[in-house]
Amino acid sequence: LPVEFEEAKEVLGAIQQAGFEAYFVGGSVRDTILGLKIHDVDIATSAYPSEVKKIFKKTVDTGIEHGTVTVLDHGRAYEITTFRTESTYQDFRRPDHVEFVRSLRDDLKRRDLTINALAMKPNGEIIDLFDGLDDLKRGRIRAVGVAEERFHEDALRMMRAVRFASQLDFIIEENTLNAIQHHAPLLAKVAVERIHVEWVKLLLGRNPQAGLTDFLATDLYLYCPLFDDKEAVFRKILQLKTLQIRNEESAWTLLCYLSSLSSSSVKKLLRAWKSSNGLIDNVIVATRLVPMIKQQRLDTWTYYKSGLLCLKIANDVATILGFGINQAILEKKYAALPIKNKHELKVNGGILIRSLKIKPGPQLGEILRKLEFKVVVGEIENQQEVLLAAAAEWVK
Ligand code: ATP
Ligand code: MG
Repeated sequence: LPVEFEEAKEVLGAIQQAGFEAYFVGGSVRDTILGLKIHDVDIATSAYPSEVKKIFKKTVDTGIEHGTVTVLDHGRAYEITTFRTESTYQDFRRPDHVEFVRSLRDDLKRRDLTINALAMKPNGEIIDLFDGLDDLKRGRIRAVGVAEERFHEDALRMMRAVRFASQLDFIIEENTLNAIQHHAPLLAKVAVERIHVEWVKLLLGRNPQAGLTDFLATDLYLYCPLFDDKEAVFRKILQLKTLQIRNEESAWTLLCYLSSLSSSSVKKLLRAWKSSNGLIDNVIVATRLVPMIKQQRLDTWTYYKSGLLCLKIANDVATILGFGINQAILEKKYAALPIKNKHELKVNGGILIRSLKIKPGPQLGEILRKLEFKVVVGEIENQQEVLLAAAAEWVK
């Protein structure tokens, strides 16, 4: 077993000692069987949250209303969730209420996909009540139980299905795929933040084109923010020979570039997806850089104004599209800039005011901008005397 499980065994042991059941569940079990790296280890138990808290010295109520208590052990944190069922999803968004139960079967039954409904004992033995192991072996995505009902309960599960198709390069089983197509409109009721997480994981997966194909074929895209006019763009992406996207910024930049979006449209799209301002700013800059890379008109000033991060994002996208430049060359050119930001300029407003006896105001700003430009493009050296002499000329 991976070291993460070995370390967590003690925690499971303590729960069992107290007379309860405890298992590893969820993504970590799935990924271990697939031989993939695991991130977090989830634990499910028959003990109620109050009972879990009695067993361990240090616990935090991280999601107690859903039955999750975080146990701190040897500097590590483990999320321990009580077996539960979820009932009547009136709004297709989240369970009306969760009910704690004592049976593992009931807990596994409410999970989304068979490959996510496996449990593992501390000794590594797998409990497979829904043929998840066979689906894992065959590379198949299948809903637990009646697919139609499961997607009706929580529409996000449809996005999760296409996300896993991409992430694991699996095929969605026919009945499950039909149920997604049937219930796709329900996705419109799901919180954008939850859809966003799955969408990004879809694009960054092993076979994003497989996930995207399902995303289109089932019409799920129609119920995502501002995607209803994007079919042609998704088809363009499907036609790319290979598609390995490095990060979320590159994913959005690819989409925005292929959609020929203006900066304000990029902003509108990403805001609708509830993206952070930092991400939006980077995608705006990178989207504008892509055509400059294509037309080979990246000049020194653009390198400077864009920053290395956005240059790399844009170049990742350009590379996907077949006109990227060598990343080492790009980094070297950036490193060769005389300054990386205006604070590295050897004069500032204060120095100019004192030396040239000018007043703060538009003229000062103008001089500083001109100095910055000339230093960046290599017209003058970034030395204080040189800069002051040039500025003195302009003031005259
Ligand atoms: P990842 O590797 O991306 O974390 P994961 O399968 O662990 O994938 P989580 O969101 O961490 O995904 O959820 C943990 C487990 O909870 C899942 O494996 C699944 O069993 C269950 N689960 C998560 N979301 C849902 C859902 N919307 N409906 C039903 N079960 C879910
Ligand atoms: Mg997980």
